Amino acid sequence: MKKISCENLSKLYSEIASLQELYLPVKESGVTNYKKYENGAEVDIKTLKTVKSAKDFFFPQTEDMMEFKVNGKNIEINDARKVANPFVIFGVRACDLKSFDILDKVFLQEPVDTMYKAKREASTIITLACNNPEQTCFCKTFGIDASNPAGDISAIIVNGEMLFEAKTEKGAELLNKLTCLEDAGDTDADAERAEIVKKSENLPFANLNLDEFKGENLMKLFDRPEWAELSKACLGCGTCTFVCPTCQCFDIRDFITNEGVRRFRCWDSCMYSEFTKMAAENPRKTQLQRYRQRFMHKLVYFPQNNDGVYGCVGCGRCVQKCPQNLNIIKVIKKLGGKNND
Ligand code: SF4
Ligand code: SF4
Repeated sequence: MKKISCENLSKLYSEIASLQELYLPVKESGVTNYKKYENGAEVDIKTLKTVKSAKDFFFPQTEDMMEFKVNGKNIEINDARKVANPFVIFGVRACDLKSFDILDKVFLQEPVDTMYKAKREASTIITLACNNPEQTCFCKTFGIDASNPAGDISAIIVNGEMLFEAKTEKGAELLNKLTCLEDAGDTDADAERAEIVKKSENLPFANLNLDEFKGENLMKLFDRPEWAELSKACLGCGTCTFVCPTCQCFDIRDFITNEGVRRFRCWDSCMYSEFTKMAAENPRKTQLQRYRQRFMHKLVYFPQNNDGVYGCVGCGRCVQKCPQNLNIIKVIKKLGGKNND
């Protein structure tokens, strides 16, 4: 294990940034999001939930795919995909790290999404344990340990020092290059982790019951009358899907430029009325149907098709951001099973 005093973290950031592009949580205008590190940036490692999750690194909100240049009767087709240079993401929390596993199940299955894969392979992930999980965090419900996320390098703050442990060869290679770190010797990391586990267990939504979300209950859940009440206030704004680290729906669109057409993909939302609209018909005509689709996908369809892995990591972003105070916790409490009150 290696360490650095938290007072000297800017030295660490500068050293990593001298080796590879470094992205980390930065506060700007009171809002914390991942940004490329620059000297003088207000790095914010206290905020647990960046507004946009870390999925942006591998599955960005918009991404160019190809370009068609039109010249008279000739059409030239150019590959517009960007080369993925090696980069480091610092400060990824356990919930966002788990979301990468979920996205991998979607994008790395055949046919492999080459744009996603290139960025996954180019990244080195430094995780950070959550010393103080928040009231809206419920990663424990999904079996995630906020005290000990892996990634390529795992970090934890103990007594004013940040401790680092390599978890992969790639992580060890980077860690060995960092001259600002010193050997940690004996540490209190295990005691700090035990403290975090205790805090996580005592959070209000740490132990939600998911018993009812089983494939064999599919139609029973689908037809539950509670969906009407649960979805009544939904505006269909899509905020919950855009902040969610595991939502993965996208659209592919063409944009007419002065020279031809640019084809790009961009996030889409199952909460939108035109989502997957076809020439013949729209498969989900009401907000109730769209709302139900989002949660049935995360809690029933996705685990059914992915060895029981749920499509939610309990980050609590949707709990914080829905303008109507609707969220997956309310759905789980209502439909998940006994003792959820
Ligand atoms: S659940 Fe909330 S955030 Fe999601 S679409 Fe409805 S109103 Fe918007
Ligand atoms: S559904 Fe909500 S709590 Fe679950 S991963 Fe998405 S944003 Fe986080």
